[in-house]
Amino acid sequence: MSTPISPPLIATQHPNIPELANTTHSLTVLTLEHFKTYTKCPLQFGYKFITHRAWPSDQTRYTLGRTIHKLFEFQARGLSVDACLPGCTTEAQSMWAKLQAIPYANPTTCEILANEWAFWVPVTSAESGTVWITGRLDRVISVPPELRATVPTLAHTQVAIVDWKTGMGVPKSPASAWQTRLYLWALVEARARLGLAALPPEAFAFVYVGLRNASEPIEIVPIPYTPQAHAATALDVQNLIATVSPYLQGQSKPAALPAPTRCPDRYCAYKAICPVGH
Ligand code: SF4
Repeated sequence: MSTPISPPLIATQHPNIPELANTTHSLTVLTLEHFKTYTKCPLQFGYKFITHRAWPSDQTRYTLGRTIHKLFEFQARGLSVDACLPGCTTEAQSMWAKLQAIPYANPTTCEILANEWAFWVPVTSAESGTVWITGRLDRVISVPPELRATVPTLAHTQVAIVDWKTGMGVPKSPASAWQTRLYLWALVEARARLGLAALPPEAFAFVYVGLRNASEPIEIVPIPYTPQAHAATALDVQNLIATVSPYLQGQSKPAALPAPTRCPDRYCAYKAICPVGH
């Protein structure tokens, strides 16, 4: 007889995350990367998350984005961003000044409800047990009536997730991107933690703020939410969990992952070892 695995001591490890306090299941955790990667290529998902062939990435590509995110964090905490700016590159300083001119980034226009907000949303099924969806939202803001009045797609929005795409662009199909769908679904599911339990799904929206560099214009893409979109994403989340959990929980072998007929990612790090990518 195999020895049962003890449930992790979640409540003591995460005292500030009430959703974790009562779990009695083993901890399977999925992030946005799991959703994006499996949807793009199940084999890439296997290399990354099942056989854990970690691949070093060029961290210098993220320096500018990290700097801007850090400045937003300082701002949200009420710390002096001005004191930090002289230590930033000229490019970062120019981008910060540009971003502060838009209402979504300005706390005097859009009250900050949360910044770098970590969510944990449990999804329980008979087959997979409790699987936790986790992630971090760049910022959650209150959208004032004056701003709603100027943006038709946000007419019913009271609360928005703002995602800073600094140094990169907004996703090509933002409304159907997993980031938009998963983060809106998660915020609505966990909204009580921000005191927003009374708000319906249509009171939420996602706003991408894209700025590749200081000399380009800022791209703002607001995406409203609906109860229908929430139900559709909930179903897709459940389906993906049911598909990947057997692999993550060791009941299915990576060799059983369905291979795509054509490689969908010409920059994939696993090309040299993948039979499809050759
Ligand atoms: S090389 Fe292509 S087919 Fe193979 S894992 Fe990567 S993305 Fe998938």
